[in-house]
Amino acid sequence: MYKIQNYINGKILESESKDFLKIFNPTTGELQGEVVNSNDKDFELLIKSSTNAFNDWSNETPLRRSRILAKYKNLIEKNLNDLAKIISSEHGKTLEDAKGSVTRGLEVVEFACGIPHLLKGEFSQNVGRNIDSWSVRQPIGVSAGITPFNFPAMVPMWMFPISIACGNSFILKPSEKDPSCSIKLAELFSEAGLPDGVFNVINGNKNVVDKIIAHEDIKSISFVGSTPVAKYIYKEATSFGKRVQSLGGAKNHLLVMPDANLEQAVDGIIGAAYGSAGERCMAVSVAVAIGNIGDKLVEDINRKAQTLKVAPWTDDQANMGPLITLEHKKKVENYINIGEKEGAKLILDGRNFKLQGYEKGFFVGPTLFDNVNKDMQIYKEEIFGPVLCVVRVDTYEEALKLVNDHAFGNGTSIYTSDGDVSRHFTTHCKIGMVGINVPIPVPMAFHSFGGWKQSLYGDHSMHGSEGIRFYTNLKTTTSRWPNSISKGPEFKIPTN
Ligand code: NAD
Repeated sequence: MYKIQNYINGKILESESKDFLKIFNPTTGELQGEVVNSNDKDFELLIKSSTNAFNDWSNETPLRRSRILAKYKNLIEKNLNDLAKIISSEHGKTLEDAKGSVTRGLEVVEFACGIPHLLKGEFSQNVGRNIDSWSVRQPIGVSAGITPFNFPAMVPMWMFPISIACGNSFILKPSEKDPSCSIKLAELFSEAGLPDGVFNVINGNKNVVDKIIAHEDIKSISFVGSTPVAKYIYKEATSFGKRVQSLGGAKNHLLVMPDANLEQAVDGIIGAAYGSAGERCMAVSVAVAIGNIGDKLVEDINRKAQTLKVAPWTDDQANMGPLITLEHKKKVENYINIGEKEGAKLILDGRNFKLQGYEKGFFVGPTLFDNVNKDMQIYKEEIFGPVLCVVRVDTYEEALKLVNDHAFGNGTSIYTSDGDVSRHFTTHCKIGMVGINVPIPVPMAFHSFGGWKQSLYGDHSMHGSEGIRFYTNLKTTTSRWPNSISKGPEFKIPTN
């Protein structure tokens, strides 16, 4: 049994709080650790450290910030295996998947290393005669990130490398279900030479989140998690005058056109629906069979899904691991019950999945529903488990309408060999991230990540140029020198 504390001002800081939250091992079902639910005193120390650090760090040159980020990149690469093990042991996902997720996070660090270039402003000479104008982006202040359990390294890394590169200090409140990785990420940043207090980690639950929302010294909040909490944080934090980007849940549709390469489509669906046990905001949870391909599509998915190896992360042959908690396992299994009652056809049932030696692990096997329709709860709501719903429609237009009428708008994908259809789809779907023959279209670090509708509240997506805009304030200066000033006051608005 280990205890996770906070990381404040360049070191692990033991809290006086007696309130601890449980960390389970999803593979065995056993309690393996505890994380502190921080108290007021921890929060005071946190704010003091973050505000002090901001004063110096915001004046540091972008080039020097970039050099520290470059060292951080090397340290993460060196520690990739350790980070992946920490993630898998608390989350349960396969080691390869955990490594991949750290590498995707690392790409944001690589992007942020270009900060001297990214912060270059704009300059216009002679906006009026002998008058020049320029725009710069300045750091926003102390920024905070509140993150979900499913990507304990990658999602925080969508946020803090860019915020810190821009000259802000950053407070991370990770998920209480798998908090260890955040401490390691913070330690490595200190080792890279980041000044104390620029990156702090505060642990806890809603109690801590509400303190972050209300504190006047925190200027921005980046949130990733479920839609009800995303909505709550956006509403509350904006009422305190903060800048907020709040990313929520998803129900991602993958459309299979009759002219698609079916084998590629099925492989794409299998990986995207069942990888990481479906606990990905970009997981494919709805496959839309268009025209007459439904029977063959369902048959092939079913056959391949049955060959998947559900196993602990320590097994290097594992395709998917357990769910995060017993509570979540029960929730996912209950959705399968609901789907049956609603009249969807259960082709493959992952309930009561037992793995020898890991009988108490939170495993749910791959599950497949056919004949799902748009009025069913299993279609409307995010399940966040290895449960794939197949909806059959006659035409592409019906499929597009399904995508556009759905409350969530995170990701979508179309498998087709028809360029006109794919162009129509990318133009007309109301979704933030779109794939053509790509099952999980997660944008690279130099583009931006974010959905539409109930998948994102706020005006900014994460990382890429959107990240730079989110973590900075724009300032435009207009200047002239005394010799060019005509005498006397001017009363009309200057025009050219
Ligand atoms: P969650 O909403 O339960 O928790 C996310 C964070 O919010 C955690 O740090 C948690 O401590 C905090 N929190 C939880 N309840 C709260 C409350 N009532 N008030 C204030 N704070 C609260 O999400 P989760 O279960 O950790 O993660 C899974 C969810 O995250 C899924 O819905 C998934 O789709 C979503 N997600 C979205 C994206 C995206 O990019 N859109 C990416 C990853 C995960």
